[in-house]
Amino acid sequence: MRCIICHDYRIEVMEVKEEVTVGNDIVYVPVRIPVCQTCGERYYDRRTFQFLEDVE
Ligand SMILES: [Zn+2]
Repeated sequence: MRCIICHDYRIEVMEVKEEVTVGNDIVYVPVRIPVCQTCGERYYDRRTFQFLEDVE
């Protein structure tokens, strides 16, 4: 897998805290997703995206 932003190959699955806005509050939800180690671009799959929508 290659990063679409910086074209590097250093993409690793990491646990990150995703910021989700719920009304006037911001909550941090831990998710495991591939993250580019070079530029920090995050790659969401459909399931993760759905999960975050469910949280909202
Ligand atoms: Zn990158």
